[in-house]
Amino acid sequence: MAQQSDGLATPRLAGAIIGYPDDAADAQSLIRGVESTLERAESADDTAMLFLSDHEDERIRQLRIISDFESAFAQNQFHLCFQPKVSLVSKSVTECEALLRWVHPELGFIPPDEFVTLAERSGNIRRMTDWVLETAIAQAAKWHQKGVKVCVAINLSAHDLADRQLPNIVRGLMEQYQADGDMIALEITESAVLRDQKSAIEILVALKRMGLRLAIDDFGTGYSSLAQLKQLPVDELKIDKSFVLALDESPGDEVIVASTIELGHSLGLKIVAEGVENDASLRMLQNFGCDKVQGYYFSKPLRVDEFSQWWSTFKWQQSDLVNPAEKQLSA
Ligand code: C2E
Ligand code: MG
Ligand code: MG
Repeated sequence: MAQQSDGLATPRLAGAIIGYPDDAADAQSLIRGVESTLERAESADDTAMLFLSDHEDERIRQLRIISDFESAFAQNQFHLCFQPKVSLVSKSVTECEALLRWVHPELGFIPPDEFVTLAERSGNIRRMTDWVLETAIAQAAKWHQKGVKVCVAINLSAHDLADRQLPNIVRGLMEQYQADGDMIALEITESAVLRDQKSAIEILVALKRMGLRLAIDDFGTGYSSLAQLKQLPVDELKIDKSFVLALDESPGDEVIVASTIELGHSLGLKIVAEGVENDASLRMLQNFGCDKVQGYYFSKPLRVDEFSQWWSTFKWQQSDLVNPAEKQLSA
């Protein structure tokens, strides 16, 4: 099915090409192969696609992952990792991002990009988000009681933003764990907001009223303009790591990152760069006036105890550079 710009699905014909007996030796395998190839053709918006046995393997893996969600919840196979966001202004760490991990007993580590998409497709995402919200909010409150003063950012899926109960769920958890709004942030992708902008804005406004910080994640990968984003009650833009990973080697990325920071600031937004892996990129971001950075250069996502240990010993070590944002502060 192809999506129209108004969100309605229009039927579109797609074809599958599969060979007998090379690709499938019996009628049942042929039908399965045709179905999976058609599914791939439709999701890639292609009119025809060739059957590949790799695709069949992938489909089997996907079905396995989907059918194992239930036992993953029941057997506590999920956990959260936390990755610090370093402020280039205060040179301290007062925020981190909660990232979901699933170590499957047989498949091993499953990348979140893979299982989150499958959770969305199979109707498991609300349950997953509820688990992440509860675990992250409980952890933020616990850390604050122990003096680890970090605001924990939680990723939301597009499907979560379609649920009008979301603000009530978050409020209930904040009361249950005695967490304040400034202990929690939410990250939402551009495409999630643009899907049903009116309803998303209502939900975001309600969350904002509760004191939560809101960030647009993976900025630059969607099709939204900064003018559209201006209408959203968000505090922060996170520049997608695809523009940051090779920042020091790519003049094209440099232009995109520098102009996003400038335009974002002119709209009153804070800018976070994710995917900072080296000193050269960090220095460039400092010179562009970027507010915060997240990336392997400082730390990979860490388990709960590793994070609090890392946090309590973190010390900014780059002494010979003055951040332009800092200059403005002291001026
Ligand atoms: P994201 O929200 O954009 O998270 C940032 C991703 O960039 C994380 O990948 C993080 O590990 C990775 N990253 C951070 N710094 C670096 C770096 O310097 N180099 C490289 N190469 N990567 C870096 P991760 O943990 O694999 O998560 C991927 C995506 O899965 C997330 O992207 C998010 O979209 C989704 N995700 C993760 N946890 C959750 C969750 O709890 N709920 C939902 N809905 N989605 C989640
Ligand atoms: Mg994120
Ligand atoms: Mg991101």
